[in-house]
Amino acid sequence: MQKQRTTSQWRELDAAHHLHPFTDTASLNQAGARVMTRGEGVYLWDSEGNKIIDGMAGLWCVNVGYGRKDFAEAARRQMEELPFYNTFFKTTHPAVVELSSLLAEVTPAGFDRVFYTNSGSESVDTMIRMVRRYWDVQGKPEKKTLIGRWNGYHGSTIGGASLGGMKYMHEQGDLPIPGMAHIEQPWWYKHGKDMTPDEFGVVAARWLEEKILEIGADKVAAFVGEPIQGAGGVIVPPATYWPEIERICRKYDVLLVADEVICGFGRTGEWFGHQHFGFQPDLFTAAKGLSSGYLPIGAVFVGKRVAEGLIAGGDFNHGFTYSGHPVCAAVAHANVAALRDEGIVQRVKDDIGPYMQKRWRETFSRFEHVDDVRGVGMVQAFTLVKNKAKRELFPDFGEIGTLCRDIFFRNNLIMRACGDHIVSAPPLVMTRAEVDEMLAVAERCLEEFEQTLKARGLA
Ligand SMILES: *Cc1c(COP(=O)(O)O)cnc(C)c1O
Repeated sequence: MQKQRTTSQWRELDAAHHLHPFTDTASLNQAGARVMTRGEGVYLWDSEGNKIIDGMAGLWCVNVGYGRKDFAEAARRQMEELPFYNTFFKTTHPAVVELSSLLAEVTPAGFDRVFYTNSGSESVDTMIRMVRRYWDVQGKPEKKTLIGRWNGYHGSTIGGASLGGMKYMHEQGDLPIPGMAHIEQPWWYKHGKDMTPDEFGVVAARWLEEKILEIGADKVAAFVGEPIQGAGGVIVPPATYWPEIERICRKYDVLLVADEVICGFGRTGEWFGHQHFGFQPDLFTAAKGLSSGYLPIGAVFVGKRVAEGLIAGGDFNHGFTYSGHPVCAAVAHANVAALRDEGIVQRVKDDIGPYMQKRWRETFSRFEHVDDVRGVGMVQAFTLVKNKAKRELFPDFGEIGTLCRDIFFRNNLIMRACGDHIVSAPPLVMTRAEVDEMLAVAERCLEEFEQTLKARGLA
């Protein structure tokens, strides 16, 4: 059982024994971690009793919101019945069968087969191995390079971090591994010069064509991108981007992979982000919203072409002890059923998504140092900029973002800073009143932020 301790005891023990992900441990330990103790709907509570609005759905994942007792019940039933069995050696179990057939119903036509992992990173690594295996089976062993994008995020494992374009991750541990290439991201605000966003979308997609020609189409296995870059700062590509990417992939026979770890399971108002942008990937990866974060589970959805290729190849020597874990599968099933049967995804498209997008733009557009106010469905962002008229960013990208994020955090609102992009992706079940409440707090925080900038002579 968990012991009841004081906040300072938790902080001390945490500082002594727990290494946090993506954290400067020394500075965290000096400040002390905030201790989260409870969640309900779109709210969290910390150990000091503060009620916090979770504008990030945990880490882009708690799509159905906190506190689903029926998920706890599904987990309990499955634990009592069959807490674990593997699916490696000619066995399966009802929980994984039920989840797989439900997923075949909610995914677009042609995606009838799914491979399970425990996380988004493992889904990406699995996808890398599948793509390379596919080309081997096709008798094209030279076709192995994967192309990702600078500032794309595909997880933290060696494969995922290599495919991703986070330079500060590559700097640690000699990444990327061989066989990975990157093109620039479709970020109009920074790279669009005097083009319209639609003109820029085509130009940015053609960077892929240039890269394919540079490497040689016979050596390129796949292009991988998030429909909307999440951790990179909610970079929403122009509408012209993905159709052109798709055309280029088809022309050079390069597999097209969507990393749907954030965009999947309703975030954009469609089930998957590629449906929002109107393109058809050959494979797509998922995790986060698949279980709304209640338990760890990820998946690779494999389209007909690649599935048939892999099956023709016989043994695929890859898998995780917990691939298709029964308890995770049971909870994911409850979650996907809730997203569908309670109309949660549909409501993002028809009601709360458009409301959020309208109110988000109304709230932030007026600020002097806020620009590129953007978003789709229930994922949105803006960028903190030095000069709106000149489309000029702050010099030390990220410093100002952190300053702003910390003001939100002190005011019991969680939004994230990705560089100087302020991003938000709350639970999809957020009500209109809760959107209004969140934005009222955020507006006051932005006022405080702009005053702080002036007071410190930063703007
Ligand atoms: C979060 C994320 C991942 C990694 O998922 P983990 O579960 O943290 O391993 C991969 N791709 C994208 C697009 C993500 O947002």
